Amino acid sequence: MSTGLDQEIESRILAEVDKAFDAQVEFLSNLVREPSLWGKEQGAQEVMYANLAEANLNPMRQQVTEELLNSVPEAPRTAAVVEGSYNVLGHKAGSGGGRSLVLNGHIDVVPAETSDRWTRAPFDPYVKDGWLYGRGSGDMKAGLAANVYAVRALNKAGVSLQGDIRLQSVIEEECTGHGALACVAAGGKADAVLISEPAHGYLPLAQVGIMWVGVQVDGIPAHAGAMLETGHNAIEAAYKIWDRVKLLKDRWNARSAEYPPLTAEINPVNFVIGTINGGDWPSSVPSRCNFEFRCGVLPGQSLEDAKLEIEREVAKAAEELGLTDTPPVVSYPGLMAEGYVLQPCDDFRDCLIAAHEQTSEIPLQPIVSPAGSDCRFFGNYAKTPALMYGPKAQRIHGIDECVELESLRQVTKAIALFAASWCGIDKGED
Ligand SMILES: [Zn+2]
Repeated sequence: MSTGLDQEIESRILAEVDKAFDAQVEFLSNLVREPSLWGKEQGAQEVMYANLAEANLNPMRQQVTEELLNSVPEAPRTAAVVEGSYNVLGHKAGSGGGRSLVLNGHIDVVPAETSDRWTRAPFDPYVKDGWLYGRGSGDMKAGLAANVYAVRALNKAGVSLQGDIRLQSVIEEECTGHGALACVAAGGKADAVLISEPAHGYLPLAQVGIMWVGVQVDGIPAHAGAMLETGHNAIEAAYKIWDRVKLLKDRWNARSAEYPPLTAEINPVNFVIGTINGGDWPSSVPSRCNFEFRCGVLPGQSLEDAKLEIEREVAKAAEELGLTDTPPVVSYPGLMAEGYVLQPCDDFRDCLIAAHEQTSEIPLQPIVSPAGSDCRFFGNYAKTPALMYGPKAQRIHGIDECVELESLRQVTKAIALFAASWCGIDKGED
């Protein structure tokens, strides 16, 4: 496959990515240094803003408000907006007549507990053996750096495009998706969206939905010695409820074939218990235990049906345990994301594959992603095809997360070539 770009222009673009690569890694380090946890993204967003300003990419801060998000009522939501949170947007204007492109990435990162088990502090980035380490390095500040430096390379190479490129650094992908939803709510439709998540080597054609589920279990507190007669241990009950609920994973995966492009062999649904808290004293039968889990939902499966099935299993387990006076309470404290299936968009996909093949020997493998992403907002609520494409990362959400710098260089080059090819080069000004 060919990008259709003039070879001389292509070489010029690739050379500019190489020239700026040290600066790009420095920028990535500066992003990682800012611990952009949920509700605390501002520091990293300001690093982004300053970089876009320096490159004349017309940065602006987009406030994420309830009013804005409510304008897309079809997108399910459970959490409130964090006061004062904002996306940072950039823009390279086209001369007209070309296809437009959004390059999107999320600035937020997940917590880095237990930080004492990291080789170095999680927000103190360093490079070792060609990998850059730190929380958020792979997921997905490297991708954001790739987006920005791909556009910077186009500008440095003096390439004027016909279509617009919009850069989006969004908040809260890991917990609510409010940042990407705000971008969709604000309009400004594009012809394609590329999200540079660390999907290295893969081209996800569908992804699961994700729900966060909280369960509050109330037992009967008592003196530990009296437990057998009077108490009911909330922590032990919580374990039993979880044991029952997680069996839904296999039941849902068994339905995969009902939801094309999934097949019976693809089992993308996972259930993970993420937090558990209960009890206040070693010698007391605990009165309350709260746990939260994350579950995948098949692309196409109804979230409302999935919620009902979960609530039914919790109720059945509680009944078996005799928790009838104080039945467990189920809540939905964050992610409530529908799955996403890429609609036919052969031009977009082929154009991206061509740019990839121009910069990498490894073919892209189509998959159904067992993880969620912001692709769903663009695909489901803005009817804009969205694809994930990004660098190689290890241990994302884990200890000693890192990203491979040579893959970052390659992906930056591929995004630059893809953008030039997709948006079209304005020959008049070249
Ligand atoms: Zn991510």
